[in-house]
Amino acid sequence: MKIHEYQARDIFKKYGIPVPNHVLCHSVEEVKQAMANIDHLVVVKAQVLVGGRGKAGGVKLAKTKADAVKAAEQILGMDIKGCTVEKIIIADAADIEKEYYVGLISDRNSKSVTLMVSAEGGVEIEEVAKTNPELIYKFNIDSQTGLLDFQARNIAMKLFKDVKQARQAADIFQKLYQIYLDTDSTLAEINPLVLTPDKKVLAIDGKMNFDDNALFRQPELLAIREADEDELKEIDAKEKGLSYIKLDGNIGCMVNGAGLAMATMDMIKLYGGNPANFLDIGGSSNPQKVVDAMNILLSDKNVEAVMINIFGGITRCDDVARGLITALDVIKTKIPIVVRLSGTNAEEGLALLKQTGLPTVGTMSEAAKKAIELSKS
Ligand code: GDP
Ligand code: MN
Repeated sequence: MKIHEYQARDIFKKYGIPVPNHVLCHSVEEVKQAMANIDHLVVVKAQVLVGGRGKAGGVKLAKTKADAVKAAEQILGMDIKGCTVEKIIIADAADIEKEYYVGLISDRNSKSVTLMVSAEGGVEIEEVAKTNPELIYKFNIDSQTGLLDFQARNIAMKLFKDVKQARQAADIFQKLYQIYLDTDSTLAEINPLVLTPDKKVLAIDGKMNFDDNALFRQPELLAIREADEDELKEIDAKEKGLSYIKLDGNIGCMVNGAGLAMATMDMIKLYGGNPANFLDIGGSSNPQKVVDAMNILLSDKNVEAVMINIFGGITRCDDVARGLITALDVIKTKIPIVVRLSGTNAEEGLALLKQTGLPTVGTMSEAAKKAIELSKS
């Protein structure tokens, strides 16, 4: 789950991280009202669940009420990487002497939360990681001790020569780590963290992602959730008893069992293809699930072929076949589909599918190769 910058700012504030004040606005009218009591420099910022808003023109400084209104008119309704801007914040603008990067991620290799800092703030960190990885300093936090005072200060000293400034930054790192733990984050980023000319250290942007599997114990996050299109699909799938994760490829996969779903994606990759999703229809024999699964799968415009890979154990292949026939009756897609059925009632299932004219194969590798071939034709 992701949240907007303004929501991250609210969480930062609650934990005492210094953040300039902001007002959330949904219309130009609201901006006019918000600006009635403001007579200093503000920054008008698009609130969308993607990064790089600055580059896209979604972040504008405004000196006067008229400037702020003009910026709001330009930004509201703007398209940023496929997201329409429906709300903006008017934030007190910070005077910036220098920008820094601070981020926390769950690092599976070191089995720890990793704190990353860089003096190359403001730009996208993925870019820095590619071109100048040595400019990012990484520190694996020991979960037993947490981020200790001296550690936080030493890390801050990599960015700030002045001890007073480093202390402010260290305090922010520790608070961000506490937020990370308390909210079951998978990413918490301040980019940029800034130093002002009067030597204050402030957070002026915030990005946070949370572990979906921990949301059951995060009622406050669930209450502020504003899912984007992909997340909505994933939530919808979950409610229907399916596990669906959208990916970037063009081969849709429908599989029973998470392990088989992983193996299916590996198989597609092995033969040079790219999976469009992870989709586990689970272990039950319910034709409706196949209908739901096909609907979700085919709603992804990138899908050019579908590979259905069923290993019948508790799941009965004839049930899957029946579900598929029902689904195709309703959906009527032109997208080519290859089916591999094996295991419980496979013969019955394959016999049922004969009438549909769908290509059926006996092994996973054949199915993967066929799906890739079909996606190209
Ligand atoms: P992003 O592009 O989506 O990451 O949006 P940011 O909030 O990080 O803003 C992009 C850039 O706009 C920052 O790196 C700053 O250079 C500039 N910016 C944002 N807020 C302020 C501000 O309050 N004052 C000033 N002077 N510049 C700002
Ligand atoms: Mn940013």
